[in-house]
Amino acid sequence: MIDIHDSAAVERLRRQLQLDPHPLRRLRNAFYKRRLDGACAVAELPEASRERAAAELRFHTLTLERTANSTVDGATKLLFAADDGVRVESVILRSRTGRTALCISSQAGCGAGCAFCATGHSGLLRNLSSSEILDQVVQANRMLRDEGRRVRNIVLMGMGEPFHNEAAVGEALAVLGRTDCFDHTLRHVAVSTVGVPAAMERCARRFPQVRLALSLHSARAAVRQQLIPTARRCSLEELRDAVATVNELQARRQPVMVEYLLLAGWTDRPEDLDALLAWCQGLHVHLNLIPFNAIPEATDLHPTPRPEREAFANRLKARGHRVTLRYSLGADVTAACGQLARSGRSADRPLSGTECG
Ligand code: SAH
Ligand code: SF4
Repeated sequence: MIDIHDSAAVERLRRQLQLDPHPLRRLRNAFYKRRLDGACAVAELPEASRERAAAELRFHTLTLERTANSTVDGATKLLFAADDGVRVESVILRSRTGRTALCISSQAGCGAGCAFCATGHSGLLRNLSSSEILDQVVQANRMLRDEGRRVRNIVLMGMGEPFHNEAAVGEALAVLGRTDCFDHTLRHVAVSTVGVPAAMERCARRFPQVRLALSLHSARAAVRQQLIPTARRCSLEELRDAVATVNELQARRQPVMVEYLLLAGWTDRPEDLDALLAWCQGLHVHLNLIPFNAIPEATDLHPTPRPEREAFANRLKARGHRVTLRYSLGADVTAACGQLARSGRSADRPLSGTECG
C-alpha cells in the first residue's frame, strides 16, 4: 500500500490513475487541513478513481487504543499501537489561552537510558517510521477538531531520542512543513535532544526554523554522565560549541532552549549553579528549569522543592539569563515529561468516529 505521507509514491499513483493534480490537491486538503478521515478524503476524487485509491492509499499506521484525560490540567494522553504491537504515546496539552500543543514520540522506548526517565528504563524497542511520527499529529488533530481546537505547537519530547532516529525525524519535519501536506509553521515545532552535536547542526541547517532544545541537566561532567549514560560520548564543550553553531545557523532568531532538570542534591547545589553559569557564559540560550516527575524506577532521585527551584531561577536571572520554570501537566495520567513508558496505564475511554464535514 502507498503511504499518504510519501509524496513521490502518491504522485506515481496519481499518474497511474491518470488523475489531474487538482483532485489530488483536494484529497490532501481534506485529509491534512480539514482533518477528515481517509474515506472522506478519497470522496474528493472523481468517482472512477475512488475505489482504486481507497484500496491503494494508507492513511494511518497507528491505531489509537486508549485516551486518558487529566482531571486537573487539560492534558490528554493518547496510547497508540503500531502494526507490530509496539506502543507509542503522545500527549495533548491544552492551555487556557486556547492554544494547543502536542508532544509526540520519535521512538518506541529509548536506548539512552537516562536514570530519571521512565522511557529510558524501558530500553529501545525500535525506531518509529516517519509515517508513525506523523500519524500522531493526524490523529491528535482529528480528536481536537471536535473541540474546535488545532495543534499549534509540536514538540518532539515524547518517547525516544529524536536524533537516534534522525532520518525518519527529518522526513517527518519535511512533511510537516510542506505546503501541500500539513503546512505546519516550522517555527512552532521543537525537537528536544539529549545532545548529539553533529545531528543538531544538521537539523539546524536543513530546518533553520525548527527550535532545538538541549537536555543539559547538569554542567558537571561527572554528574551528567551518572544521570545520562550517553553523555560519555560527547563532552560539555562539544555541546556548548553545537549550541553556538545552531544559534548562528538559525540567525539567533530563537535561541536554543537549554533544559535543566532540578534534582535534589544532584543538580541544584551551589556548585551546580556555578557550573551552569560558567557553561552558559557568552552563550545565547533560554534556560528552562524542569521539575522532576518522580518515577518508580528511580528511588534515589527526588525533586527540588518549589521555593528552591524559584531561588535557582532567580540567581540565573540575576546574571542576565532568560529563564522559565516549567510546570508539569498531565502527571495524574502519567503523561508528564519522563513518565511515558512502554505500557500505558491510562483509563479506558470510548473513541468516537469522525464524520465527513
Ligand atoms: N530524548 C529527548 C526528548 C524526549 S525526553 C531528550 O532527552 O531531550 C523530553 C524531556 O523530558 C527531556 O528534557 C527529558 O530530560 C525530560 N525528562 C525525562 N524524564 C523526566 C522526568 N522524570 N521528569 C521531568 N522531566 C523528564
Ligand atoms: Fe531517552 Fe530523552 Fe528519556 Fe533520556 S530523557 S532516556 S534521551 S527519552
